[in-house]
Amino acid sequence: MEKLFVQKCSNCNKFTFPKKYFCSECGNTEFDAISINEGKVEEISVIRHMLGQKDWKPRKIANIKTALGIYITAGIEDAAQVGDALYIYSDNGAPIGKLVEEK
Ligand SMILES: [Zn+2]
Repeated sequence: MEKLFVQKCSNCNKFTFPKKYFCSECGNTEFDAISINEGKVEEISVIRHMLGQKDWKPRKIANIKTALGIYITAGIEDAAQVGDALYIYSDNGAPIGKLVEEK
């Protein structure tokens, strides 16, 4: 697992994810990479079918509000529920949310 990065516009500070070539706010093309560590599950949906994938297994994805204030869509574990805190990683470029272990 690697860290997941979002782009922060070096001109207007707007966060962008997934990656774009220019800022949708100001058109700037310079970005800083900011790592995302945690977020909170806002909404969960299940992808039951995927075009072109015969052996697809239903998979949960979540709309996650990150600590930076932007939302990302990430694959999550089955046990994750709305409101749960997740660690966010990148798995080959795909965002993945893992439950923060209870202590
Ligand atoms: Zn900008």
